[in-house]
Amino acid sequence: MNIPFLDLKTQYRALAAEVDDALHGVMANADFILGKDVELFEREFAAYCGVPHAVGLDSGISALELALRALGIGPGDEVITVSHTFIATVSAISFTGAKPVFVDVRPDTFNLDTRLIEAAISPRTKAILPVHLYGQPADMQPILDVARKYRLAVVEDACQAHGARYRGQRAGTFGEAGCFSFYPGKNLGAYGDAGMLVTRNRELAEKVRMLRNYGQSEKYHHLFLAYNHRLDTMQAAVLRVKLKRLDDWNAARQKLAQRYRAGLEGLSEVVVPTEAPDRTHVYHLYVIQHPDRDGLAAFLRQQGIATGLHYPIPVHRQPCYESLGVARGSLPVTEHLALRILTLPMFPEMTAEQVDYVCAQIRNYSSRQPGA
Ligand SMILES: *Cc1c(COP(=O)(O)O)cnc(C)c1O
Repeated sequence: MNIPFLDLKTQYRALAAEVDDALHGVMANADFILGKDVELFEREFAAYCGVPHAVGLDSGISALELALRALGIGPGDEVITVSHTFIATVSAISFTGAKPVFVDVRPDTFNLDTRLIEAAISPRTKAILPVHLYGQPADMQPILDVARKYRLAVVEDACQAHGARYRGQRAGTFGEAGCFSFYPGKNLGAYGDAGMLVTRNRELAEKVRMLRNYGQSEKYHHLFLAYNHRLDTMQAAVLRVKLKRLDDWNAARQKLAQRYRAGLEGLSEVVVPTEAPDRTHVYHLYVIQHPDRDGLAAFLRQQGIATGLHYPIPVHRQPCYESLGVARGSLPVTEHLALRILTLPMFPEMTAEQVDYVCAQIRNYSSRQPGA
């Protein structure tokens, strides 16, 4: 059996008629820049999240950077975040001129360890940027509590958590701004790059609308210098078709995750993902831990199973962040996890038989190990 890491072609076949129609509509109307579908998708995604404002952008990293800029964060400021994440979480902070300050993550949920925030706060700290990693929201209440106490902004990296909930409320709607990526492989993915910022704050939304569009308040009136970070109308048209399926797709992912959990039960060296009781996990990625991760990955590859590493090198250990001078060993959980994590195939169209095959092969590998 050959099992891909994800399968966007099968998904397209199921949507082709509707997606093709939507794209032809944009082309027939030559409605390419900030067109009708951008406006409608912003409205629909805001309603889906349960917030009044959404601003369509060209990527997730733009959403993060513009959120911070709109909050006035820049040189001399510090933003607290995690190192166990995709680089964009952290580089978005750096691009504003602010300095990222890392706290470690929890070994069970892989999310920011909220007990460590207070010790990381300095007089320069302006914001906390939690990541809802792999599709499970971070523990938001303690984050909001400490943010209120020290008057810090909260910006959520919800780029992997479309539709996930924390205590019943959608991820991305707790802080000043929630930032989403619609990179093709995300739970809600475009046919190219795209992103979104959601917020309850009208002024912040207006600021980001200008920041995405040359600092324009109205055509050819520029209040400040800004780049072009607009959401493409063609992508918005695709995303409107796909948003209607997001909850079903997330439910399919959750079912597959349950099947993985059952199929891997009893394997003492395999740690399956922990679901915190007050959250829903939308399983953007299904990440297990294994002491011989590289050996297992190589074995699975031989059996036709693709796997991933999210992420093999923590951000503070990347060459581009050497200058931060974060010492090796200072984020022990993050560094430990990076050596043990392995991402198994997970996509809504995956079949029960495919999950069973992956589990069977992991069992095969375990039975070959000495001491098993
Ligand atoms: C995908 C992702 C981003 C960046 O999104 P882009 O659309 O690729 O810019 C940021 N943070 C996390 C956690 C992500 O997974």
